[in-house]
Amino acid sequence: MQNHFKLSLSLFSAARVIGIAAWMGFGFFSVHGAVASVASYLPAGDRPVEIHQRLVTSNGEKVVALTLDACGGGFDADLVNTLVEFHVPATIFATRTWIDRHPEGMALLNAHPDLFDIEDHGAAHVPAVIGANKRVYGLRGEPDIAHLNAEVEGGARAISATGAPRPEWYRGATALYDQAAVGAIEAMGYRIAGFSVNADAGATLSRRAIVARLQSVKPGDIIIAHMNKPASESAEALRDMLPVLIRRGLQFVTLQGRSVEPLATTNTRS
Ligand SMILES: [Zn+2]
Repeated sequence: MQNHFKLSLSLFSAARVIGIAAWMGFGFFSVHGAVASVASYLPAGDRPVEIHQRLVTSNGEKVVALTLDACGGGFDADLVNTLVEFHVPATIFATRTWIDRHPEGMALLNAHPDLFDIEDHGAAHVPAVIGANKRVYGLRGEPDIAHLNAEVEGGARAISATGAPRPEWYRGATALYDQAAVGAIEAMGYRIAGFSVNADAGATLSRRAIVARLQSVKPGDIIIAHMNKPASESAEALRDMLPVLIRRGLQFVTLQGRSVEPLATTNTRS
């Protein structure tokens, strides 16, 4: 009788431990899912950081996200028409500058809401680093948080004014951020979009080099390329590789409603 009681007690304890572990496990997963803020995993220090992320994938899901920055400059219609032709969804990070300059480009993107998710790349392509005389890749950052807020909100308003849904993601110019900027952008309610595959290095790479980088794409990857340099070879390389990736069973998705998780290889650059 006593032994039976002991057994019942230990079974009860085991069930409790399993229950608590399951609860903790669920909590852990949530932290790495939709609610994880970039601020929670940013390395300490004041240096601008390139944020590397991948999509959170459920069992067997072979999704990848193509993201295209429209910084300023031109409109690579060839690239967008390639995506339409192959029915490949993409997340477009557009600046107000680009939107103002290319109404025909925005009209083409907005004509395919099933394919294109338009997100915020700022008003005037000012990097998200705070401090007088701070620069990244030669571009001057923001003097203070108020200017950063105006850059982020200005980009969002320009997108909404075209009839597109209000953006939920932000990617700063140069994709580098300092701690103060990350905190301010997330406090405004935006999620910061990193990447895992830099496909065209600002649309400066050759077709062959971009194809080589795209060959390595695997489930969960977030690809960054550019759609503001029509003279570049980015469109040609995507035309080569999108059918290849689709034949491998990869399914392209936008960032809309997706969860992302940090990659261990977050670089810092001065
Ligand atoms: Zn840009």
